[in-house]
Amino acid sequence: MQKYGGTSVGSVERIKSVAARVAATQRPGQGLIVVVSAMAGETNRLVSLAQQMAEVPDERECDVLLASGEQVSAALLALAIRALGRRARSFLAHQVRIETDSAFGKARIKSVDASKVKESLREGEIVVVAGFQGVDEKGNITTLGRGGSDTSAVAVAAALQAKVCEIYTDVEGVFTTDPNICPDATKLDRISYDEMLEMASMGAKVLQIRSVELAKKFGVPVHVRSSFTDREGTWVVEEEKGMDSVLVAGVTCEKNEAKITILQVPDRPGLAAQIFSPISEANIVVDMIIQNASADGTTDLTFTVPRPDHKKTLAVVEQIAADIQAKGIRSDRHIAKVSIVGAGMRTHAGVAATMFQVLAREGINIEMISTSEIKISVVIQEKYAELAVRVLHDAFMGKQVNS
Ligand code: ASP
Ligand code: MG
Repeated sequence: MQKYGGTSVGSVERIKSVAARVAATQRPGQGLIVVVSAMAGETNRLVSLAQQMAEVPDERECDVLLASGEQVSAALLALAIRALGRRARSFLAHQVRIETDSAFGKARIKSVDASKVKESLREGEIVVVAGFQGVDEKGNITTLGRGGSDTSAVAVAAALQAKVCEIYTDVEGVFTTDPNICPDATKLDRISYDEMLEMASMGAKVLQIRSVELAKKFGVPVHVRSSFTDREGTWVVEEEKGMDSVLVAGVTCEKNEAKITILQVPDRPGLAAQIFSPISEANIVVDMIIQNASADGTTDLTFTVPRPDHKKTLAVVEQIAADIQAKGIRSDRHIAKVSIVGAGMRTHAGVAATMFQVLAREGINIEMISTSEIKISVVIQEKYAELAVRVLHDAFMGKQVNS
């Protein structure tokens, strides 16, 4: 299984060179399936066309429109492979039958019927599948959300028990941190599914998160690599037990959040539910939540939400704060969440302490802390975000600590 992203099929020349790579990597007796994205910029162009038709374009019709980008690139790639004298056949999602739910624009795959693809492979054809699209129970065309071709590729790979799902993109793989922030960032040779999921904010630029969840669920090895070179990229795989799990695999930085504090919330049962139910009803996804132990019968409660939802959340929270007689609300949109991620944390003490010392040395104040088994996140002022990433990368990745 090979998947090519938008830049890899961004022009006639690029599609021809993908065809050449596909032809060169096909081994006799071994089936090859290729999933493609729309040509670079095409999905955005289609989105903007829809927006010119209506302020809030109908979601079903949007998916009919958006799915066309992948239809074009799948057909073009099949044509290019055939022009090289190889046999190839393109499939749209409804022809394979990649069935999804009916959540237009963010549909989730329910099942993949592999029989047509298998038949075509048996006939010696290279199968080209249009990514990003699906079909619901009633036959409506759906799309899987931005970056969804990755998920198409992993789902088809799982259904066909492919040996590997190669994701060809315009970067060399997954990096220890954003190379634009930290020039010392290096490409990871391998990373576990869990680490990749925790690196969401950074990893999402390379892989749609949903595809990593699927790969983990079905144990599909994913190899993220550049379509511009032959070099190995990053393998996203099952965590290896034992020796070489690194302490910290990556440092990530998320600036797209805002922080809200409700002051002196009375400390009694049901209040957290009273606060967060209306927020979730407003379709706002809360990220970190921190509540302290109460001292005098009240406690401050702080949480973060996506920055674009900041105003909407404040409107909801102001109402609740009045209802429950909290003392007031504070909020800050100039924050950043900086995290270190690594499976080695499961078995090593002192990672958090080191992280806090490194930040303290730079005089960076930590406003919130949260942890999972393999991740420690801190919220700090946005203006210190790059500095924090650099010093943390230096502290943990400068000298690689082995277990
Ligand atoms: N073409 C879709 C997008 O731009 C899907 C993808 O590229 O994975 O989001
Ligand atoms: Mg992508």
